[in-house]
Amino acid sequence: MNRVYNFSAGPSMLPLAVLEKARDEMVCYGTSGQSVMEMSHRSKDYQAIIDDAERLLRSVMNIPDNYKVLFLQGGASSQFAMIPMNLYSEKRKADYVVTGQWAKKAQKEAARYGNARIVASSEDKTFSYIPKLTADMFDSDADYVHICMNNTIYGTRYVNIPETGNVPLVGDISSMILSQPLDVTKFGVLYAGAQKNMAPAGLTIAIVREDLIGNAIDITPTMFDYKTHADNGSMFNTPPCYCIYVAKLVLEWLESIGGINAIYDINLKKANMLYDFLDNSSLFRGTVVPEDRSLMNVPFITGNDELDAKFVKESTAAGFVNLKGHRSVGGMRASIYNAMPIEGVEALVDFMAKFEKENA
Ligand SMILES: *Cc1c(COP(=O)(O)O)cnc(C)c1O
Repeated sequence: MNRVYNFSAGPSMLPLAVLEKARDEMVCYGTSGQSVMEMSHRSKDYQAIIDDAERLLRSVMNIPDNYKVLFLQGGASSQFAMIPMNLYSEKRKADYVVTGQWAKKAQKEAARYGNARIVASSEDKTFSYIPKLTADMFDSDADYVHICMNNTIYGTRYVNIPETGNVPLVGDISSMILSQPLDVTKFGVLYAGAQKNMAPAGLTIAIVREDLIGNAIDITPTMFDYKTHADNGSMFNTPPCYCIYVAKLVLEWLESIGGINAIYDINLKKANMLYDFLDNSSLFRGTVVPEDRSLMNVPFITGNDELDAKFVKESTAAGFVNLKGHRSVGGMRASIYNAMPIEGVEALVDFMAKFEKENA
């Protein structure tokens, strides 16, 4: 077996230990005589799996009791509609900070149902920074404020959480969930597509403060109402059973290595190693202002499209895959989520140094 270092932005690497455990349990889970894929979601065995997944997520992320954890489908993209449908009051007013394509899509969707004001945007500089935000920029009368905590395509992140007073803050944490400590109490809603840092594609997590549940606008489809899922333990209909099972394995793995603080240390090491190299390179450079650099997605360029293409080709052949930048921005991007080992980043930096010498 020859596994590559996979720098994909999502779906992305899962810890090898998790894949091996899933393999060992695939045909027969425990004493159940069946695969998790074949199980009734109403069975005792499956209830224990989803309960464990929720318990572990609550413990690892330190989620208070007055928040519901919902296991949903439809991707983070469905949350772009579920957020306004569930959080708009009669005023239907929300504030959006546009820091990339995902944030922009979220704002556009909310604008279909109400007044989704753009408070600030970094589009003027290809989303290479996070706008400076102060409390007075937000409408104190808005139903919520929406931010995208880590901008997967452009490689920026919020280092500080903006102050929004009594207005609930909503955070898209698709590409940073479980990567660093996060104060859940600062948010009304957190949501994430699981395929970046938590599970295979098909599962979406929403962490919703209880007082924000039960007030959906009247056109909200039953399946888009948080209350539907909160009242039914994420089992109103069939949940993405196998994805939730793998998420449970990922959370067990994370707990076994020391939880969020331990993985944060490792993530800092990996990101610093790569940024240090970029800052000292005569060929490569990062594209994001240093103070807003993501720990998860590291975009970089040579400044020469042909050389970028050559790098992508040669790195792929050497076993570093999916380093091509997003189709909208070009260049390269290394996504270094929790499952990417330090050795993977070390090997990438060595490879980049070699490429730099050969192409000087
Ligand atoms: C990938 C991503 C999305 C879209 O997720 P889907 O699950 O594919 O809908 C939204 N927001 C961010 C920040 C992402 O990284």
